[in-house]
Amino acid sequence: MKVIKTIKELREILKEARKNKTIGLVPTMGALHLGHASLIKNSTKENDFTVVSIFVNPTQFGPNEDYNKYPRTLEADSKICEELDVDVIFSPSPDEMYADQNESTFVCPAYSDINKLCGKSRPGHFDGVATVVSKLFNIVKPDRAYFGEKDAQQLFIIKKMVRDLNFDIEIVPCPIIREKDGLALSSRNTYLNQENRKRALKLSKALFTIKEMSQKGIKNAEQLVDTALSILENEDVEYFEILDLNKFEKIDTISNESIALCAVKFPQENGTVRLIDNIKL
Ligand code: AMP
Repeated sequence: MKVIKTIKELREILKEARKNKTIGLVPTMGALHLGHASLIKNSTKENDFTVVSIFVNPTQFGPNEDYNKYPRTLEADSKICEELDVDVIFSPSPDEMYADQNESTFVCPAYSDINKLCGKSRPGHFDGVATVVSKLFNIVKPDRAYFGEKDAQQLFIIKKMVRDLNFDIEIVPCPIIREKDGLALSSRNTYLNQENRKRALKLSKALFTIKEMSQKGIKNAEQLVDTALSILENEDVEYFEILDLNKFEKIDTISNESIALCAVKFPQENGTVRLIDNIKL
């Protein structure tokens, strides 16, 4: 396995690989955990050559977000990738990826798709995501790219971008991987103090509870949201919404094409930790 820092070197390797191999891309920001590992496993299973990108993308962080303190653990990540038979880690510097961060061309998803859920509280976030993912697609030119359902709005936006901009790439969604107690794995879980680690369980508890209710026949979205909010009482809920899975628009009555999504903030001594989670109903 090679760890590559420059676009030029990566392109040379991929030019050779592309002659007779299918290429899978797994875009990540590193601090790899079992959630990332499941994406990587899918890629190595379905492709002859897997590239994992590890890049903490500055353009998707807001001015008061955790860009500087985001965990950077390339050595440990490399070991994980090696064990998972990854062919290449692409780990560029911000300067390698952006000639000029403030003056470069950006890919901006539709306003109606970003003016909701995470995009509403993180202005510019999905412009940064769509831009860096487009750049990775153009650099790697993969046959398939793997994204976690954990970041449901991101997945929705990337799928739409691929359709709208005619990228010839198959987007493969991968299910959410959770801790045994239900907490969705996230690189940001490492920030949580002991008390908030316990309180964070309320996200999955709220989601699992309303899924169970919906399976028992309760289809009223407002009722389900109210139940979820009562489980999350006393927490700083940024949003809890039930949407149509395909359009990402609010619905009144749920079907088997519905998704519940939430973001909750946990203030702590070392800064606020913001967690997201979702479940298909
Ligand atoms: P990140 O490094 O947080 O940008 O995540 C890289 C990719 O891993 C994204 O497509 C995420 O949706 C995916 N991912 C992160 N956590 C999980 C998880 N718990 N289960 C499945 N996929 C995940």
